[in-house]
Amino acid sequence: MLVKDPEKVRTLCRETRAQGRRIGLVPTMGFFHEGHLSLMRKAKDSGNYVVTSLFVNPPQFGPEEDLNRYPQDLARDQALAAKEGVDLLFVPDRQQIYPDWYRTYVEVEELGVLLCGVQRPTHFKGVTTIVAKLLNIVEPDFLFLGRKDAQQAIILSRMIEDLNFPCEVVVCPTVREADGLAMSSRNEYLSPAERREARGLYLALSRVCKLVVAGERSTRTVVHEMRQELSRWPLVKPEYVAAVDATNLRPTEKLQGKVLLALAACVGPSRLIDNAVLTVSSEGVRVEL
Ligand code: AMP
Repeated sequence: MLVKDPEKVRTLCRETRAQGRRIGLVPTMGFFHEGHLSLMRKAKDSGNYVVTSLFVNPPQFGPEEDLNRYPQDLARDQALAAKEGVDLLFVPDRQQIYPDWYRTYVEVEELGVLLCGVQRPTHFKGVTTIVAKLLNIVEPDFLFLGRKDAQQAIILSRMIEDLNFPCEVVVCPTVREADGLAMSSRNEYLSPAERREARGLYLALSRVCKLVVAGERSTRTVVHEMRQELSRWPLVKPEYVAAVDATNLRPTEKLQGKVLLALAACVGPSRLIDNAVLTVSSEGVRVEL
């Protein structure tokens, strides 16, 4: 069922909860690929009434970014969501979400200006604001997010805890193309040559994951090795390459505990991101890539 009106969504969700169902929210900007569908499937398989929101959110785009050419295909998205058993597809108009007099934003300090926040200083403020609004409209029990956007998941988890939203975050694995490239709506913009080289991001991450599994613990070496791998791909222009503490995004000297390996690079017209989460302990290394 496609619903545009936020008040109608709230009413439907409250009625559903009154019947004893739990609600799972999957926020998206649409143009669904297998990554989005994996979140819907996970929400459905866990027995939830699944609400997927589809909204290209202007405040999370910088002035020079791709807001006005972000890929869209509502008919296709509607069919794919129906196939996954999504119960409610929430597709509000911009005016319904940000009326002319709109003035309120939610900002998570510190975490939003690191990594992607350096080049996109207002991006996460846009993300936290729209997700806070969606949480208030849908009032879900669970929020399903992709680990592909690891910094986003960390920031939203912080917001949910800090602002006492009664909602549990479920972070789902990154879904990849056959050659390892993380699925993204922005892969659409790549030329065939750019698409071939874009796998360099995955190769850089998988190369250092192997090194860490083999015993490497120096952050400096790991970052250097990722940069080396990226430099083999001339169309891949790195923006940042980092190995940080996965809970607070702060730099670490030694790889210990939960570590986020994260990188962003421009490939032709697309800015692509990817990451791996390593859990390093005396018993060994767990890799989530
Ligand atoms: P987006 O439409 O890009 O805002 O993404 C909506 C949700 O899908 C976010 O929680 C993303 O992290 C998640 N997502 C996007 N790409 C992938 C992927 N390749 N694998 C898993 N989740 C993804």
